[in-house]
Amino acid sequence: MNLDRFERIPLAFYPSPIHPLKRLSAHLGGPEIWAKRDDICGGLAFGGNKIRKLEYLVPDALAKGCDTLVSIGGVQSNHTRQVAAVAAHLGLKCRLVQEKWVEWPDTIYDKVGNLLLSRLMGAEARQEGEGYSTAIKDTWEGALAEVRARGGKPYAIPAGASDHPLGGLGYANFAREVAAQEREHGIFFDTVVVATCTGSTQAGMIVGFLGQDRPRRLIGIDVAADEAMTRAAVTKIARATAELVELKTPVRDEDVVIETGHAGPAYGAPGKDTIEAIRLAARLEGMITDPVYEGKSMAGLIGLVSSGAIPASSKVLYVHLGGVPAINAYAGAFN
Ligand code: PLP
Repeated sequence: MNLDRFERIPLAFYPSPIHPLKRLSAHLGGPEIWAKRDDICGGLAFGGNKIRKLEYLVPDALAKGCDTLVSIGGVQSNHTRQVAAVAAHLGLKCRLVQEKWVEWPDTIYDKVGNLLLSRLMGAEARQEGEGYSTAIKDTWEGALAEVRARGGKPYAIPAGASDHPLGGLGYANFAREVAAQEREHGIFFDTVVVATCTGSTQAGMIVGFLGQDRPRRLIGIDVAADEAMTRAAVTKIARATAELVELKTPVRDEDVVIETGHAGPAYGAPGKDTIEAIRLAARLEGMITDPVYEGKSMAGLIGLVSSGAIPASSKVLYVHLGGVPAINAYAGAFN
């Protein structure tokens, strides 16, 4: 695998820590579970998984002489908040499309959390358009055209920084970091559990782990309540990334493992099991997960352990990808 030929600007503090979740492991009575904390390794506006991806996109934006990062997400998008943070950090402008992807009744929904932070960091974040999709949206094209019409040079970052030629590199690199920490701690994680949505986090990991000697199971927990869309996105990005880094092994269909049934009623809406999982991780570990992503992947982890699909003999790495800034927008879910 040839990852080092790509320029990367580190934007967080690495490696992100790993630690055992002793009380959660004991409570579930199954395998030894550890967490890898991509939620707490960032100094840029609470960080999260988009930072690793943007580390590879930003050098491209700078090399092309772009002055404005343009991206898209839901109203409470973690991704757009991280794009705003990176833009502020690098002295670039930022134009964000915040689509209505979620019908959520809390009246503070569009006033707190990620949207508040993005605006604080100087991004021009406009609420326009609707409907969750990883497809290219007219609203995003409109924002790009608007920046050009003003005489700016936009750099286009798709939803989740995923469907972009360089989108999978950040988490291919993450796989190397995991292997180094395993050597340090004298442990091997045979199973890795991660939330999956726009796809490049899981896709990058697939490529990164396939490039290693020892096989392991990587399970993506679908949080979009749309397995077909998630699977198509992960597969496309994994194959494109594999080609880009000249991975020797092909990415087979069976390498894309997606667990469904934990996404709640829709993208952005937590199910009962999501809320229970959030409470459990908070009370047993003091580890906060959110109602859109990590609460769902935590519910998936609990479900897989409880059903025996992850056996008691396993060593599991639960990857925490961030997302907590949205939690106050969902206060009503915890009444
Ligand atoms: N977890 C959090 C906190 C996120 O913000 C996202 C973004 O969509 C994901 C998980 C899913 O990652 P991806 O979109 O790369 O599949």
